Amino acid sequence: MELSRRSACLALLALALMSLVACRRARDPGAARQAGGLVRVRETRMPMGTYMTVTVYAPSEEAGQKAIDAAFARVEQVEAVISTWRKDSDASTLNRQAGGEPVRVDPRLIALLQRSVEVSRKTGGAFDITVGPLVKLYRRCFRRRRLPTDDELAAAGARMGYQAIEVDAQAGTARLAKEDMRVDFGAIGKGFVVDQAVAALRKAGITTALLDAGGDLFALGSPPGRDGWLIGVRNPARPDEILEQRLLVRDVAVATSGDYEQFVVIDGRRYSHIVDPRTGRPVKHMGSVTAIAGDATTADAYATACSVLGPKAAAAFANERLGVETLILYRTPEGHGTARSEGFDRFIAPDDVTP
Ligand code: AMP
Ligand code: MG
Repeated sequence: MELSRRSACLALLALALMSLVACRRARDPGAARQAGGLVRVRETRMPMGTYMTVTVYAPSEEAGQKAIDAAFARVEQVEAVISTWRKDSDASTLNRQAGGEPVRVDPRLIALLQRSVEVSRKTGGAFDITVGPLVKLYRRCFRRRRLPTDDELAAAGARMGYQAIEVDAQAGTARLAKEDMRVDFGAIGKGFVVDQAVAALRKAGITTALLDAGGDLFALGSPPGRDGWLIGVRNPARPDEILEQRLLVRDVAVATSGDYEQFVVIDGRRYSHIVDPRTGRPVKHMGSVTAIAGDATTADAYATACSVLGPKAAAAFANERLGVETLILYRTPEGHGTARSEGFDRFIAPDDVTP
């Protein structure tokens, strides 16, 4: 059903997360501030084609900068292994060898493949890192303002299936059992990289930090004198606006998936860049899913998976799954609806907490 102009506006309230800290940066560039004897150090770089801001509290500016450098170095190392954009990565080698012999790969790729398959199993295939051929097919068709034919969908489907990912952790090898199949980590890789960067910060002795990779973030500890990191919820249609409801988080990851980032409208219907591998169809009616979990890999993967599962199934799923909470905004013919898992509210900041 076509959305009315008003409901379309409301639908655009689909939320994305943006740290208030990141907002403040614009007004307070490069600030290093004494707080509880700690210095705040912050840096934004652009690895993986996306902005990543690392904020740390450290005993000295030098120590903070060293930790940040270590975090970005780790990001680069991991990206060199898991990026399918880079021809020389282990992930690309694995893809090229699809249908052939097992390939020896970096342990981090093994870990990421295992996590990906685990999420696929737990979501009944709603999440699947072999979905690339379908995503590409839609992209090609959308450019021509058309939908794929059944034959095209069947051909893409034949190249997919997480069940055909074989991982032998002991041997340190992986194999894609179907010829022409490909993995890509668009829905989980950013979270994985954030977790790796957090590990690098911890190794450097940092206990208070915020890593924000545009839609995927991890809040480590809480800033001096605070109960957590205050996270603003922004209106993607008007990026300068922050909605009243904020999150107060510590030692958790927050990830948001949404069709406000990438979508196409054909004949009045709105289609998302997230597809349902079980049906071969793009997700409809979803505004955004915000997932909170103990680590960013999980939050990233479940934010995408819950977009596929749909509001009811996703909230029920989160309720059953200890440690994952979701906030879902979905489009309805009248405007938009909200579904929250039972435990989500404990992350909503009290009104009296100020930035
Ligand atoms: P995210 O922004 O984390 O939700 O990831 C979205 C990206 O993941 C898309 O651009 C696709 O490349 C890929 N993707 C789309 N649908 C799925 C799915 N059902 N499972 C896994 N990856 C997907
Ligand atoms: Mg994701």
